[in-house]
Amino acid sequence: MNPTTLKGACHCGAVTFEADTPSEPAVRCNCSLCRRRGAVMSPPFPRDRLRILSGENELALYEFNTQVAKHFFCKRCGIYTFHQTRSNPDMWRVNLGCIDGVDAYSLDAPVADGASHSVVGKP
Ligand SMILES: [Zn+2]
Repeated sequence: MNPTTLKGACHCGAVTFEADTPSEPAVRCNCSLCRRRGAVMSPPFPRDRLRILSGENELALYEFNTQVAKHFFCKRCGIYTFHQTRSNPDMWRVNLGCIDGVDAYSLDAPVADGASHSVVGKP
């Protein structure tokens, strides 16, 4: 398999990165975080396919709930760039809105039912 290398950046350009992954199947999610950020995300891929090219010091980490997923965003511009998934902590996704040459809104990106998988509010 020879996945495409996606090149991306946050809005201010401090954080740049590459990920070896196809852009589809893309997905959105209705969990409490994703419905707020509204991002279209890449398919999941292993961590070693993600390379942070610049701005690693500009990245902030947001964790909530089970503290398993790791959501990274740029401290300067606030843009979510990529995250480590909760369902499989070995896998990551990138924000397709950050990727050069990808029109994230043109992709067929069904909404995953993350809200039902969330442990928030469940006994
Ligand atoms: Zn930025």
